Amino acid sequence: MLLSVIIPCYNEELVIEETYKRLTSVLGSMQHSYELIFINDGSRDKTYDILFQLSEKDAKVKILHFSRNFGHQCAVTAGINHCNGDAAVIIDSDLQDPPEVIIDMLKIMEEEKANVVYGVRKKRKGETWFKLVTAKYFYRILNSLSDVKFPVDTGDFRLIDRNIIDTFNRMEEKNKYIRGLISWMGYKQVPCYYEREERFAGETKYPLKKMLKFAMIGVFYFSKKPLKLATYIGFISVAIGILYALIALITKLINPSALVTGWTTIIVLIVFFGGVQLITIGVLGQYIGNLFDEAKKRPEYIVGKKINF
Ligand code: UDP
Ligand code: MG
Repeated sequence: MLLSVIIPCYNEELVIEETYKRLTSVLGSMQHSYELIFINDGSRDKTYDILFQLSEKDAKVKILHFSRNFGHQCAVTAGINHCNGDAAVIIDSDLQDPPEVIIDMLKIMEEEKANVVYGVRKKRKGETWFKLVTAKYFYRILNSLSDVKFPVDTGDFRLIDRNIIDTFNRMEEKNKYIRGLISWMGYKQVPCYYEREERFAGETKYPLKKMLKFAMIGVFYFSKKPLKLATYIGFISVAIGILYALIALITKLINPSALVTGWTTIIVLIVFFGGVQLITIGVLGQYIGNLFDEAKKRPEYIVGKKINF
């Protein structure tokens, strides 16, 4: 069996050599053959040079060198698209996902005849409380919004087999929420519990802005409930509007002099309905934006160079 290891890297000069060492020592101890696919996601530091040196010494090291930073999900997509393995494991380059867990995942896959073994974080060391809290609630809210059930406390660290790889390669959507897509595919998916380590060196490459973008793709690509929410609010506001109109009409018939004082009411109504319209338009806009992305059919990434392929 050939195992592909998919390792997205963005400005990881401080960790990449250590990652290579840990991976080779773990993978060298098993009887399967393997390839290490490093995706250099437009790093501006020495990541590429270090990877290139490794690739000259070790033919198992393959590099996909992006022409610019396309983001973590695109890097993983490129890795899955280009891997030759009978199975592939997606792992962060910062050693937060311990390479030793790969062995456990392979064992579970074999024993349970699973198509996917996904890592579930029991503990997360060295993360900010903000990341822990947002992640915890994000996955639970996403679950309540979505038609598909996603495992909680799960990242992209997972082992997938050829079926999943081939199915994934047929997915045409451009903004991929990979952990969601893989859950969505079905097949047999089993968890593997592990303790998430601290980042080996360097700092997170997922600032709030990228996290938000990522979360939005998760929500808007896997749930149509926000769209319905706007409709519900729309109905309620229309109902209130009609009710208010009736009250105004009756007041006009019974007590016309009371009606001239309407400034506050008018302002309140304008703000309220304006808000409702904005929410609705915003949600529609999000879906239209997604349709737009799909319609463009631009490549998700551009590989400038391929090494050892
Ligand atoms: N990463 C990437 N492109 C990006 C951001 C991150 O390839 O634009 C990689 C990064 O090198 C790492 C993985 O994605 O291997 C996860 O990123 P990071 O560890 O910074 O995220 P965190 O663990 O803090 O959520
Ligand atoms: Mg990390």
